[in-house]
Amino acid sequence: MSQLPHRNVAVLGATGSIGASALDVIARHPDRLRATVLAAGSKVDALLALCRTHRPLHAVIADPAQFERLRDGLRDAGLATQAHAGEAALETLAAGADCDTVVAAIVGAAGLSSTLAAARAGKRLLLANKESLVLAGELLMRAAQESGAVIVPIDSEHNAIFQCLPDAHAHAGLKRIVLTASGGPFRGRRREELVDVTPEQAIAHPKWSMGPKISVDSATLMNKGLEVIEAHHLFGMPRGRIDVLVHPQSLVHSLVEFVDGSTLAQLGLPDMRTALAVGFGWPQRIASGVAGLDLLQHGRLDFEAPDLEAFPCLRLAFEALQAGGTAPALLNAANEVAVSAFLQRKIAFLSIPALVEATLDALPATAADSLEVLRDADAAARRHVTAAVG
Ligand code: NAD
Ligand code: MG
Repeated sequence: MSQLPHRNVAVLGATGSIGASALDVIARHPDRLRATVLAAGSKVDALLALCRTHRPLHAVIADPAQFERLRDGLRDAGLATQAHAGEAALETLAAGADCDTVVAAIVGAAGLSSTLAAARAGKRLLLANKESLVLAGELLMRAAQESGAVIVPIDSEHNAIFQCLPDAHAHAGLKRIVLTASGGPFRGRRREELVDVTPEQAIAHPKWSMGPKISVDSATLMNKGLEVIEAHHLFGMPRGRIDVLVHPQSLVHSLVEFVDGSTLAQLGLPDMRTALAVGFGWPQRIASGVAGLDLLQHGRLDFEAPDLEAFPCLRLAFEALQAGGTAPALLNAANEVAVSAFLQRKIAFLSIPALVEATLDALPATAADSLEVLRDADAAARRHVTAAVG
């Protein structure tokens, strides 16, 4: 087997759940992978701790108010790591010569500018930040195509499809793709049983350990809705050829069906390090630290249809994809603000879909021909939900 090329990796969102998994895989391959850029939102102490372990060339904190603490902390630790702050620094480093590979693992639309910068600069892009694809999927995919950037989806479902369908644009004989969903912590509950669920219950995911925002998205099924839109952009599939199947064991990560009756699936334990190792190694395979799957021990694989009555976010996402234009950007931004309000106990769980639906009703979608139009739609939806939350 040929040697894996050496990769200099920027981990954007290094202090998060995906960031930790990425750094775990990187640390297993010190001769081939190096974290050269580490970036975080505002947790400067957590970022400093990672810098002491991984000794990157650059550390970036998005919050400019934290710059001095980062700079002084690096100096006090005796590190040569350069300190940076702000979104522009994040973009510059994501596109710069000190990395060839970017792990886009910032949560939310805040990740768009650095993800886009990496795509434009032709980096190998390990794309976990699904919100950037929902917000500006066409622009992002076009930027990657023009620069030659290789996008490896890190979302486990899309990573599974990528493994079953490595040439994302070769659709000959492809019939449909099926995204699996765990169903989240409230699977099987009726709508009226969701009235007073708490943030603690919502983020207690049965199978995956993830950041708070995506955990709430999994509980509402908005996560699967965002993933349908993500799949549409990554694999060029129309809405009618993307299906969702609830699979509570989270061992089958997604499926691809061909016209000849064949279905290919990727299976594995629910651990994001597998997808990240695929991203770093592809087309080679490298160790991830994840054990193989013992199907005898697990015994059974169950599948059921999603309940769109109890979990209307999935329906809303399908509708936004159908409407096109700015609708997915509006859906995503409204959801981000609503989830944040739920986590702060300002609104009830069922208000999340209600606020998203009210935003989509109040702000009609328009054609989305530029980043500016999409950003305006994003901002308008944020204002609308913020005003409604009070
Ligand atoms: P997380 O909340 O654990 O981490 C988020 C990271 O983003 C942190 O490092 C934080 O500092 C950083 N960040 C937040 N706001 C920022 C800003 N304005 N500028 C710069 N950095 C900022 O989230 P996560 O669970 O790791 O998820 C990250 C992304 O990956 C999300 O888009 C999520 O949907 C996607 N994803 C996560 C998982 C998972 O298993 N956790 C699976 C699939 C996809
Ligand atoms: Mg996923």
